[in-house]
Amino acid sequence: MIFNTVSINPEFIKSYFQFGINAKAIQEEIFKINYWNPLNFCEKKRLDDSPYGGGRGMILSYPPMKKMMLEIEKKNKKMKLNNSISILMSPQGKLLNKKLTDELIHFECINIISSRYEGIDQRFINECIDLEISIGDYVLSSGELPLLLLIDSLVRLLPNAIGNQNELHYDSFDSFLLGYPQYTRPQKINNEKIPEILLSGNLSQIHQWKKEQSFYKTLIARPDLINNVGLSEKEYNYLLFLKDYLVYKNWG
Ligand code: SAH
Repeated sequence: MIFNTVSINPEFIKSYFQFGINAKAIQEEIFKINYWNPLNFCEKKRLDDSPYGGGRGMILSYPPMKKMMLEIEKKNKKMKLNNSISILMSPQGKLLNKKLTDELIHFECINIISSRYEGIDQRFINECIDLEISIGDYVLSSGELPLLLLIDSLVRLLPNAIGNQNELHYDSFDSFLLGYPQYTRPQKINNEKIPEILLSGNLSQIHQWKKEQSFYKTLIARPDLINNVGLSEKEYNYLLFLKDYLVYKNWG
């Protein structure tokens, strides 16, 4: 997978990819990342301008942004990357979630634009952007962090990016559930011991415990996730039963 990132601060983005599983995945050529700076496509370094109709702040203007997109497309074409999508990080976009990352992972190439100031000329968005993505209902000062968030959430899903691929289906939001609680040494901290079952060596019971904990956590913290999957009344009643059962067993 190839990411073309667009930002006037490529160094900021680059620094993130020097660490952790992202750095390793780049080294192992699991994904590739290119850095595009719209300032390199400006006449007299003039990237932004004041908004028509008044209003605070500045707007990234169409000409340099369009010029840069044409260059990106040209390069994609040269590399025979046909299955690509252009995304703008924007608080006005579709909310980023697991369903969306699962869809995006099938693209060969993703062009991701981070904007700043008060945004970009709407005509650029109409012409060059396939999808706007928001990372939440709040406003940040620029799109670099949202861009990094999007790429990081996608890299996690790429084959072989994470050590044990089989463990991936235990991540929060795989299926529709949150993750289960995790423990490591020491076995006892103050008076709190880890759940006995994790020491039992009985893999099927441990698996069952993890599933039940996931259900329980989701019911308590994010019942909306369960409502969203459209469970039948019977299934939902089973979950309620499970919740009581787990409280009874003191697992919650
Ligand atoms: N005036 C704009 C906000 C501009 S914030 C508005 O009201 O919609 C500047 C830039 O930061 C945006 O263009 C976008 O690239 C990025 N940004 C800010 N908040 C974001 C969010 N919640 N999700 C994705 N990108 C965001």
